Amino acid sequence: MLECIAAMEASNDGPRELEAQLEMQMRAQERQLTLARLVLCALAAVLLFALMARDTAGASLLLAIVAALAAWSVGVPALLRRFPSREVGIVSTVIEMAAVTTAVYAVPSAPDLYLFYGLVILGAALRFGLGAAIWSSIVMSAMYVSVVMVGGTLDRPAIEVLPVRVAYLVGFGAVAGMFSRIVIRRVNENARLQLRVAEEDRLRESTRERELLSRLGRDFNQSLDLSATYEAIAAGAGPILGDATMVFGADDAERRLEPAAASGPDAALAAAWRGWAAERPPRLGEGAIGAAGATASAQEARNDDALAGDAAGMRTLGLAWILAVPILAGGRLHGVLATAGRDARGPGDGMLRLAEAVAERAGPALQNAQLWSDLQERMAREQAATRIKDDFLSIVSHELRTPLTSIQGYSQLLEARLAGGFDPESKEMAHLHVILSQVGRMRRLVDDLLDVSRIDRRGAVSIEPGDFDLADLVREAVARVQREHPTRSISLEVGEGMTIHADRDRIDQVLSNLLENAVKYSPDGGPVVVRAGGRGGEVEVTVSDTGIGISPEHRENVFERFYQADGDAGRRRFGGLGLGLYISRAIIDAHGGRIWSGPNPEADSGSVFGFRLPRVSIGLAPPAIAPGGEPPAFVVRRREP
Ligand code: ADP
Repeated sequence: MLECIAAMEASNDGPRELEAQLEMQMRAQERQLTLARLVLCALAAVLLFALMARDTAGASLLLAIVAALAAWSVGVPALLRRFPSREVGIVSTVIEMAAVTTAVYAVPSAPDLYLFYGLVILGAALRFGLGAAIWSSIVMSAMYVSVVMVGGTLDRPAIEVLPVRVAYLVGFGAVAGMFSRIVIRRVNENARLQLRVAEEDRLRESTRERELLSRLGRDFNQSLDLSATYEAIAAGAGPILGDATMVFGADDAERRLEPAAASGPDAALAAAWRGWAAERPPRLGEGAIGAAGATASAQEARNDDALAGDAAGMRTLGLAWILAVPILAGGRLHGVLATAGRDARGPGDGMLRLAEAVAERAGPALQNAQLWSDLQERMAREQAATRIKDDFLSIVSHELRTPLTSIQGYSQLLEARLAGGFDPESKEMAHLHVILSQVGRMRRLVDDLLDVSRIDRRGAVSIEPGDFDLADLVREAVARVQREHPTRSISLEVGEGMTIHADRDRIDQVLSNLLENAVKYSPDGGPVVVRAGGRGGEVEVTVSDTGIGISPEHRENVFERFYQADGDAGRRRFGGLGLGLYISRAIIDAHGGRIWSGPNPEADSGSVFGFRLPRVSIGLAPPAIAPGGEPPAFVVRRREP
């Protein structure tokens, strides 16, 4: 065995594990030697009883020695559990030696008793190897010689056989030692083999575990739906943990853990446990499950633990143990993974490790699902609020439009009636013109609001494409705005042959918006230049002014709803709702065109707004609206003829 240890130390196979393995084998060998000794003692006892019956001298003394040896042998297994096999082996050898020596000394009438030294030498050889075998044979020969001489049985024949017997003992020691080398080599190889097998098993097991866990990680992240994620965690963890496994979700408001999904090899137990927990969801800190949530660490309860909250449930469900691990992610508790079993041996370290690894993978999945569910809830709330606002906008603008239309109609009627009787320069006529112009302004605002509410509510504004000459339309629009602002200089450069297929009224609306803005945002009265011309398959219209211009950071935003470049200051100074360009862009987009703005390149200040349209606007197919998503900004729907 010493050689064994030497070999072990020289090896690279994890000396400590090999040592443990060898110790295990030596204990097994020590137990075998003890068993052999017991069998021999039993045989000897039978023989000695027979001799005692014939009143053979010394038989009873030998029986006592055999009994002492047997008693020692019975105690050896217990000693092996507490002491190293090496120490037990040394004591056994000494006791065996003492027993044989006592027998040799006490019963001179049985000269062959010395042969039992051979067995002791064999034991020493098997335990400690060749060197120990030779040394023990020498020591025993010396003991034998001295005992024989002290015993006074030194007669001539005894002296003659003494060297032969000593030679036998030493020779036997050498042979037994050689034999032990073979045995020890076998033991050594066996230990290494066992170790390799155990290592391979461990490796296979850990690879399997790793693969399993990475598969579970994928499964857990398969869905963003919260309850589907709970189910996936329970389904994945169920087969590899205890008899039943349950996933609890954390209810932050109530400070409780709600059972969310259960599974496991014992489906009936899983269902019963879930039912039980649904009726009494554990509070944070209550029982092993609540404690896992409250302390963010693994907890275990046995049926003999007096853990409040678990004891009754465990008794009712017949559980021997519960193991609970927290599911954490992003510094938050998302739930608790609990597994339970009926086996009194408990979950063990392996299961704890596995449960923690599962919970580690479940955390991010639950966090994502939770975020998604929060987001959807918020989106639903925002959509509901937007819907209410859009409804309100639509109802209010509809309701305002009717009285406005009649005020406008009657004012125009009044103007026509009074035109003959009143001086056009009179105060009354001036007042009437103010009424008409303000009503016209209000109508435009209300029409804008109606357009916006249509875009927001239905995601669509109808356009009716038809063939017309854009050049004519531009001329008309410029003339109209010029009439309304007779003091302003509005120049027009327009090309020929600009027939397009588009919605005339809507394009007119866009032109009016751009022209009105150019006039409005040039408070010092600078010139406005309108250009219209063909560009290959497209037509382009630009409106430039030398007014206040738009700073670059606002340029992209002016096409957004309710956006005004200078915020409240701009609103106070120029009025308006910030809708004209939003609607204009929607109309141009609907025709498959493009609208833009920039600084006026021909002046130090001011802006240029322009749009391009394809000559043939066939209208765009309505983009699909994702379920639950925002409606698109604008969709064209052809009106049925
Ligand atoms: P409104 O003119 O009713 O405020 P619009 O949608 O027509 O709304 O315009 C949005 C914003 O874009 C305006 O508030 C203004 O700040 C800016 N804007 C539009 N046209 C011009 C322009 N020609 N020059 C300078 N700023 C402009």
